[in-house]
Amino acid sequence: MELIEVSGCCYYFSGAVNIGYIHKEGQGLLIDSGIDKGTAKKVLKILNEHQLPVDYVILTHAHTDHYGGASYLQKELQVELHAQRLEAAIMEHPILEPIYLWNGAVPIKQLRNKFLEGEPVIIDGFLFEGQQELGPFHFEALHLPGHSYSQIGVLIDGILYAADSYFGTKVLAKHKVPFIVDADATINSLEKLKSLTLQGAIPGHGDYETAFEETIQANIECHNNIKLFLLNSIKASTDGISMEALMKRMFDHFGLRAREIGQWLLYRTSFTAYISSLIEGGTVSISINEYTLWLKGESV
Ligand SMILES: [Zn+2]
Repeated sequence: MELIEVSGCCYYFSGAVNIGYIHKEGQGLLIDSGIDKGTAKKVLKILNEHQLPVDYVILTHAHTDHYGGASYLQKELQVELHAQRLEAAIMEHPILEPIYLWNGAVPIKQLRNKFLEGEPVIIDGFLFEGQQELGPFHFEALHLPGHSYSQIGVLIDGILYAADSYFGTKVLAKHKVPFIVDADATINSLEKLKSLTLQGAIPGHGDYETAFEETIQANIECHNNIKLFLLNSIKASTDGISMEALMKRMFDHFGLRAREIGQWLLYRTSFTAYISSLIEGGTVSISINEYTLWLKGESV
């Protein structure tokens, strides 16, 4: 992990999950906290070495790799934590992620790990879309849903801390099917990013870029490509296809590997999000056939 300066007061810790940092008028704002106490400790160690403070933490969304270390920061430094209201509800009740991944039933123990369930935190203030102020920090909070329900991006001094609204191209190539909960909202958020005039952007996973249009376009194409594959597969099955069989085809086609149950469930959520978009768009219908959820192409 390394602290990188991107402009006068904007920095980030580069790593598997990037963490933002802004320093103004002797105060510090951290954007996300890393996955656990160990990561948060490393961040504080580096900041201490540079005699940089932390007064506020913005948590962009309720995925443990972004908020899991916040509980330690809250206890250790009594810093203020800020997040969007719905994401905050999950951070305050982290069992909600294993619950929703396990279809709403009480989750099995295998899902109750630090990758899917972070340490709970108490959120001190809610973030809303638009101009915000936290101490000396004046920024725009961007509503960027799709990857999570109400993810927030932070735009400050021309630098966008984009959270997981898009992924770096290498990360995209590795995941093949990125995690999303809403395919249409994901695309809309990507289009929104394209319309911004920025000095540079830092995704949650990937490299800082001053010109990120191609990366955004690669993300849009990735989602369109997955959705088209699923639609064509449904249409090619004259009598329709079960959700299970189609998901198996998606795994096979994109060469997805899921060693853990949790990873498989994350892929299932993305799969379901694309299917929802096809159903709501009117190109696919869903019914129950032979005791299974059944998908069929609609002629539009
Ligand atoms: Zn995420």
